[in-house]
Amino acid sequence: MEDYIIRATAADGAIRAFAVTSKNTVETARSLHNTSPVATAALGRLLSAAAMMGIMLKGEKDLLTLQIRGDGPLQGIVVSADSEANVKGYVFNPYVEVPDKYEGKLDVSKAIGNGNISVIKDIGLKEPYCGQIELVSGEIAEDLTYYFAKSEQTPSAVGLGVLIDRDTTVMASGGFIIQLMPDADDEIAEKLEEKINRTPYVTTLLDMGYTPEDILKLILGDFNLEINEKKEMRFYCNCSRSRVEKALISLGKDELTKIIEEDKKAQLHCHFCNKEYNFNEDELREILKSAL
Ligand SMILES: [Zn+2]
Repeated sequence: MEDYIIRATAADGAIRAFAVTSKNTVETARSLHNTSPVATAALGRLLSAAAMMGIMLKGEKDLLTLQIRGDGPLQGIVVSADSEANVKGYVFNPYVEVPDKYEGKLDVSKAIGNGNISVIKDIGLKEPYCGQIELVSGEIAEDLTYYFAKSEQTPSAVGLGVLIDRDTTVMASGGFIIQLMPDADDEIAEKLEEKINRTPYVTTLLDMGYTPEDILKLILGDFNLEINEKKEMRFYCNCSRSRVEKALISLGKDELTKIIEEDKKAQLHCHFCNKEYNFNEDELREILKSAL
């Protein structure tokens, strides 16, 4: 099955909802970064969330970045998504191991520790929008629920899950975001809350083979659910040799000359996809000609 996101509305527009299946994307991230199971779970949850939040952006060139900084051994996660469900991301310490929360349950909050989560939206304005909150649990879904309530004044339910095989590959990954729009009345809010409280964990649903459509039907089936859009999702890094060259040029003549004289080469690394870009002395001298 391909990775995809669906966008839906329910209760005549009083509710909007997103759900995603992201196994291949998260498995790509795992193999690029060689992440341990708990790091894969943390990164996978944030990638799923970013993909859905990216879809909420309006402009084609809009970009969303989610950053978590924590005092746990994982140290942090950075993911970014565009409005076309292209996502990329990495964790600061991919090899982290922490004891399971209980048998078979990876302890993402222990790996992350205490810290904060930032939501950065670059929607083409002079300054990007940035909202930051303290982590409430470090489990990511709860933290984002709190973020939506506090920073965007939007009551939301967020569910995220990643299932990992014994050999550490990703078996399933996905999640949902359900939000109450300002015109939702109390009756809808109460009914929805009750329904969400009775909804099993996303990992349980994924384990049962639920698709994004199944998940939204389970939660919003009684609310006149309408699925409006389906979009393919993928892991995609837009780094390239010419972008890296531009970054070198922007260092300026003095800095570049110093690199050429001292190191005679440059090696640059893309955090998002782990690719290495190597430049020898001749190539650096060529780049120097374009620098100011
Ligand atoms: Zn890259």
